[in-house]
Amino acid sequence: MPLTDIKSMTKEEIREAFAQDGLPAFRAKQVFTWLHRGVESFEEMTDLSKDLRASLAEKYYISVTTIEKKLVSGYDNTVKYLLRLPDGEYVECVLMEYHHGLTVCISTQVGCRMGCTFCATGRSGFSRNLLPSEILAQVQAVQKDAGRRLSNIVLMGMGEPLDNYENVLRFLELVSDHEGMNIGMRHISLSTCGLVDRIYDLAEKKLQLTLSVSLHAPNDEIRSRTMPINKKWGVEELLRACRDYEKATGRRISFEYAMISGVNDSDECARELAARLKGSLCHVNLIPVNAVSGAGYHKSTIDRQKRFIKILGDRGITATVRRTLGSDINASCGQLRRRYQEEKSSEGI
Ligand code: SAH
Ligand code: SF4
Repeated sequence: MPLTDIKSMTKEEIREAFAQDGLPAFRAKQVFTWLHRGVESFEEMTDLSKDLRASLAEKYYISVTTIEKKLVSGYDNTVKYLLRLPDGEYVECVLMEYHHGLTVCISTQVGCRMGCTFCATGRSGFSRNLLPSEILAQVQAVQKDAGRRLSNIVLMGMGEPLDNYENVLRFLELVSDHEGMNIGMRHISLSTCGLVDRIYDLAEKKLQLTLSVSLHAPNDEIRSRTMPINKKWGVEELLRACRDYEKATGRRISFEYAMISGVNDSDECARELAARLKGSLCHVNLIPVNAVSGAGYHKSTIDRQKRFIKILGDRGITATVRRTLGSDINASCGQLRRRYQEEKSSEGI
């Protein structure tokens, strides 16, 4: 019998499975608490008898990630981690310090199927979805290494969270559990390239998380050139889903807009964007694009960024340029893993 991934199970599921084996509910609660405190083996669950620990280990496994590489920025203490999963795959996470506390940016897939042309992850292809336990294990590994409680989580690392919908929702339930890590939905942001069917599904759940939508272009012509998903759901359909989401949840959406010189940063683009977003509760986050090898894109100049913000502002749309953290330890997610794998293969490992 293959072992069961116990860290992906909800409290209720553990309780039911334990009940079937004749174990009382308080045992399920004890085990759940240990798992979410980040233990790596049943041996560490010291208030369970040795026999019980041994019988659990025969039935279940605890998913653990190990830190393979860690880069600390000399500028601002941002830390970038390359984590190794149980099957030898790698994912990246980033720990950032803001005035309101520590934020971790985590991955939801190994690679990504969406193929955005400006993105290092998208350019490296797709390997597999992460399990809920593997998404959670990233938060635990980073919190343990930081030695401090993490206050915020952003699902903006490798992968498209809504392309791994069920596992991501289960992760959200686990990480926000009061008897688990207890990181509330209001402290979690999920970023999507715009899987419209899933945005409607998510709206129905009425979770209090922040939805970020990677828009990156004001019209279909430009967006389809950089983001293949736009050929399935165009800008208008995406914005309709966003309005529905805002209405259903009462939450303000933030739109991500990577500014790429000569591609999407003209005055005309800013005017068109403002017209499209008019009447929405949204906020626009401008991100000077990080150069990714082979893509041939360059970030917009500071003057362009300022002009873009002014045009949006004059039309009632608030926009800010996102502070770039850890610029010396390397840009956007996906780059570290890509480089590490290239190095390994050139060494013949
Ligand atoms: N798949 C999701 C979340 C992961 S990407 C999404 O696309 O939203 C997180 C953010 O980084 C997205 O807004 C994405 O568009 C952006 N991004 C990717 N590559 C980038 C680059 N080279 N420069 C700036 N932002 C980038
Ligand atoms: Fe995937 Fe997001 Fe990168 Fe696009 S930007 S390829 S959706 S990770």
